[in-house]
Amino acid sequence: MILIGGKPLLEHQIELARSHGFTDIIILACYRADLIKRYIGDGSRFGVSVSTIVEREPLGTAGALLAAMDQLAENFVVLYGDTMVNIDLQRIWERHRQSRADATLLVHPNDHPLDSDLLETSAGGWIEAFHNRPHATDHWFQNLVNAGLYVIRKAALEPWAGGSRAPLDFGKDLFPALLNRGSRLLAYNSPEFIKDIGTPERYDRICAEYQTGVVARSSLRTPQRAVFLDRDGTLISDKDCLRRAEDLELLPGVANAVRQLNHHGWRAVLATNQPVVAKGWCSEAELQRIHNKLETLLGREHAFLDRIYFCPHHPESGFAGERAELKICCQCRKPAPGMLIQAAADLNLDLAQSWLIGDSTSDIQAAVNGGVRSVLVRTGCAGRDGRYPVAPHFVFDTLGQTVDFIIQNAEPSAQHS
Ligand SMILES: [Zn+2]
Repeated sequence: MILIGGKPLLEHQIELARSHGFTDIIILACYRADLIKRYIGDGSRFGVSVSTIVEREPLGTAGALLAAMDQLAENFVVLYGDTMVNIDLQRIWERHRQSRADATLLVHPNDHPLDSDLLETSAGGWIEAFHNRPHATDHWFQNLVNAGLYVIRKAALEPWAGGSRAPLDFGKDLFPALLNRGSRLLAYNSPEFIKDIGTPERYDRICAEYQTGVVARSSLRTPQRAVFLDRDGTLISDKDCLRRAEDLELLPGVANAVRQLNHHGWRAVLATNQPVVAKGWCSEAELQRIHNKLETLLGREHAFLDRIYFCPHHPESGFAGERAELKICCQCRKPAPGMLIQAAADLNLDLAQSWLIGDSTSDIQAAVNGGVRSVLVRTGCAGRDGRYPVAPHFVFDTLGQTVDFIIQNAEPSAQHS
C-alpha cells in the first residue's frame, strides 16, 4: 500500500495487469490484509476482478501460491507485492506460450552479480543451474539474476497439490526442485524496470525514477536505444584470435564506460564476430567461459551488458580442423547487420537512435548496413584494417571518451529525455 507517485504500489501493479489484458487477479495477503481488502475491494473500480486470500501463517512466497492452487488458471503470472514493475506482460506471456515452458522467469544482469544469486542458461535460454551466494572465486559466472516475476504453467506444480507443510520460497526451493524434476524453466532476459522497495533508500530511488520517467520508458512497449559494442580491440585487448578465457583482459576505463551507459538508460549490447569457433580453435563452451569472465570483470566494477551476440561463422572453408557446418556465408557476421537486427527485435530498439562503437572498418560498415551511427575508437586495430572504404561518424581515442560524447549529445525526446 506504500505510495509511489501518490498511488499505492499495488494499484500500479493492477493497472499494469489490466493494461496488458490480465483482469483476473488473486491477491495473496497476510500482514495488514484488512487494509488491502478495504482499498482494493472486488477490484471493480479498477476494471478488474480481485479475490483476496489471507494466509493465517506465513507460508513463503511459493507456499502461499500453492495453497491457492485450486483457484489458479492453466497459466498465470506471479508478481511480488513489494516490486515496482513496468514490463510488457504480453511479450513475456507470448514467449512463455510459444516455448511451452513449465515456468518462465524474468531475469536480467545486475550491477552487483558477485553478491547475487545467479543462474546459468543454455544458448537457447533454458535454465540449467542455480548458483546461490557465496560464489566460488575461481569460477566465472554468467551475470543473470532472477528478477522476481514469473509465468507458470499450473500443471508443473501438480506434485505440490494440497500445499506444503514447510514454508516454500520460489527462488530457493520451488524452482530448484522443478529443475531437479526435469521441468523446463525458461529465462526471459529483459532490461525492463523491476525493483523491490525493500529499504528506505531503494524506495526513495524508485520514487525518483518514477518521477523522472525512467520507469515509464523502460517497458519494451516503448522503443529503446542501444550502444552496440565490439569486443576485441574495443572492450578487451586485441589478442589476435582470443581462444582461452585466461587470456582475456579488459581495456582500461571500459567498465566505467559501460557503467555510464547502464546509468543513463542506454542498452549496452555486445556484437562480436568469433570466427575462431568455425575455425575449430575455440568451442562454444569455451566462448561461453570467455564471456562469463568478461561479465564477471565488468560486474566487479558494477557494470553489465544487456545482451551478448556473437557470430560463430566464417565464409572461407577448406582448412584443417575447421567445423564445416559453420563455414558459411551468414547474415550475422559483421559487416552484415544480422546481430543488430536481431537485437532490435529482441529489445525493441530504435536503430536510428542507436550507436555502434568499434575499432575496425567492418564494425563501421556494419553500422552503415544496420542504420545506426558509428564511432571508431583508436584502440585495437584503430581502423587500420582498411577492409571497407567507409568513414565513421566520429573518431575518439577511447571507449570512455566515446560514451561521454554519446551521453552528452543524446537528443532529448518524449521517450528518452
Ligand atoms: Zn554468422
